[in-house]
Amino acid sequence: MIISHKKLGSLVRLIFHAMGCHNRETTTITDHLVTANLMGHDSHGVGMIPIYVQSFLAGELKPNVSPNITVDNHSILVFDGKKGFGQSVTRKAMQKSIARCKETGLVLMGIHNSGHMGRIGSYGEQSVKEGLVSIHFVNVTDRSPSVAPFGGSQARFGTNPICISIPRGSATDPLILDFATSKVAVGKIRAAINKKEQLPDGWVIDYSGAPTNDPRVLEKHIYSLKDSEIPEGAVLPMGDHKGYGLSLFCEILGGIMSGGKTIQPENIRSGGLINNMLSIIFDPEKLQDKNVIHNELEKLIKYVESSPIAAMREQNKILLPGELERKKMSHRRKYGIEIDDKTYTQIVESAEFLGIKRSSLVVE
Ligand code: NAD
Repeated sequence: MIISHKKLGSLVRLIFHAMGCHNRETTTITDHLVTANLMGHDSHGVGMIPIYVQSFLAGELKPNVSPNITVDNHSILVFDGKKGFGQSVTRKAMQKSIARCKETGLVLMGIHNSGHMGRIGSYGEQSVKEGLVSIHFVNVTDRSPSVAPFGGSQARFGTNPICISIPRGSATDPLILDFATSKVAVGKIRAAINKKEQLPDGWVIDYSGAPTNDPRVLEKHIYSLKDSEIPEGAVLPMGDHKGYGLSLFCEILGGIMSGGKTIQPENIRSGGLINNMLSIIFDPEKLQDKNVIHNELEKLIKYVESSPIAAMREQNKILLPGELERKKMSHRRKYGIEIDDKTYTQIVESAEFLGIKRSSLVVE
């Protein structure tokens, strides 16, 4: 089905209200999820709702949480997210860190024990709106791993995303680099399972480490099933040893240094979805004159964009980090968001679990 972002937002609001989120939190989470869909990251949009509802009903995800500051030492801030909805607690922690960065010019922020933070680029966007640069390292705990280390056949990591963002002055769009260190976000494999589609080559391996196109090798992990017809495989790291190395450092920086935990098996895996994040936030104008930064950055970008398009490529221009998302957003705002039947059914069933009547779901 194709649905407008406004109607989708109304449906999402009902669900988060039903979980007890106050208006402000409901708006934060709804905007985050619908924006992820608008930007083309369906893996981190409304398709996450059934997993959130499951965690909420299991008492693993809590509404209306304000993160606690556990370390406050000038430019170092560490927060405990207390298993609150990640979109909300991380935004609040970022707000405090951004305010501090306005005083100090630099903040090292750790946040641990947060519910799933969603699209990490949203926190990069939060920084650039205030003229700040930010770098984020994230790990995933409380559930089994999904990504194999380079050369391994069994998963040892979550999809551990990294984000780097930089403002480009008031007139132009920022650069937002935001991706999982796995070949692909697990949500994209969930979408393929739901649509009964095969995966492109090189995304996943089966239990033995052999390449496969069958997304169901991740079914057990994604739906926290006790068993699955297909033995469990793993997602490959992006860029072979390079993505693997970055993922390991997401565990160390995002997991340990944030005051949180890593994915090693002595730590609790209750089947929830916890993110820990270490972020470096700084004011670029404390390092260099803003006109110098702006001129050099724009000249660099112009040079990069001037590379002729490679043969066989369908694109008509070199894209900058964050550009594709903005293009998709303007398209989907106009033409609507496509939601596959299974994802939609799962969302409706989750709403029903929360006591919402099917008839009150506005898109029906
Ligand atoms: P992806 O592979 O689609 O890569 C996205 C990044 O690459 C963006 O910065 C985008 O602008 C850039 N990009 C894409 N195509 C490009 C092109 N042709 N030219 C230049 N740049 C291009 O992203 P992904 O790895 O699938 O991750 C999707 C989302 O999932 C991200 O928002 C990420 O933060 C999120 N995520 C979250 C978690 C979590 O635990 N919270 C885990 C994994 C991923």
